[in-house]
Amino acid sequence: MTDRYAVIGNPISHSKSPLIHGLFAEATGQDMHYATILGATIPGGFAHAVDAFRADGGRGLNVTVPFKTDAFAYATELSPDAQLAGAVNALKFEGDRVQGQNFDGIGLVRDVQRNLGVSIAGRRVLLLGAGGATRGALLPLARAGAAAIVIANRTAEKAHALAQAFGPHAGGAAVQGCGLGALEDQVFDIVFNATSASLSAELPVISPSVFAPGALAYDLVYGKGLTPFLHLARGAGCAQVVDGVGMLAEQAAEAFEWWRGVRPDTSDVIARLTVPLA
Ligand code: NAP
Repeated sequence: MTDRYAVIGNPISHSKSPLIHGLFAEATGQDMHYATILGATIPGGFAHAVDAFRADGGRGLNVTVPFKTDAFAYATELSPDAQLAGAVNALKFEGDRVQGQNFDGIGLVRDVQRNLGVSIAGRRVLLLGAGGATRGALLPLARAGAAAIVIANRTAEKAHALAQAFGPHAGGAAVQGCGLGALEDQVFDIVFNATSASLSAELPVISPSVFAPGALAYDLVYGKGLTPFLHLARGAGCAQVVDGVGMLAEQAAEAFEWWRGVRPDTSDVIARLTVPLA
């Protein structure tokens, strides 16, 4: 019988996951079917939909907005990345076992290091935002050997609290949390925009002086062209300005390998989904 997978979210019709996993399955010769599930945003709506999918033989799910914390609660086993993020973006079902993973940060780091050829080890990294994407990126960035990780958020208290919670897990990285306005005199080799500002064409209020000469500027949003953040970074002389399409493809590849035991190549998916920066 063909193995069944799906992505669950609300809304869901915009999701690129069926296209991505369809291409992966074709390229690796996997016999699998991948669908979308529109979860109901009522209490218990997520669990109800997932119970039904499992009862129907479903093997695994990708989980997107707004259900990543519901998936965290639903899982019976959590990876360290999912635990620290407080969020799950992929589930695997084996009998009564429900394994929860968070591949967003792993996908981000893989895109930076493998696809963009930028080493994170020993670099000063700035993360703008203190939401789910930042929480998921922290452990993978520390594992990649970042020298310093600064979390800067519009609501400074959230950045302080996250830095404090993450500190003991940061390995050798120096960790700091602050408001967006407290970055004066600080310069970074890699700057991630992990705020949702670009979704509404807004700019997190930062000084262009945060970008070191030759820095990498990375907006986690994808498909939006040259966002105000990337425009600022380009004007500041960054060597590379990129969006999050590679992260999207790489986190999907991680989930695919976790489910199927075979690693798909992401280059075709990235090429198909890339929207040129103006
Ligand atoms: P989230 O949990 O809702 O967090 C949003 C963050 O953005 C908060 O820190 C919020 O600050 C900040 N923010 C919102 N509007 C802002 C503005 N105008 N100026 C400054 N800060 C602002 O969102 P998320 O799940 O972390 O997602 C963040 C981004 O990552 C989204 O664009 C999402 O599309 C992208 N993402 C991409 C991928 C991928 O595969 N490429 C995967 C996951 C997420 P406050 O705390 O002050 O409200």
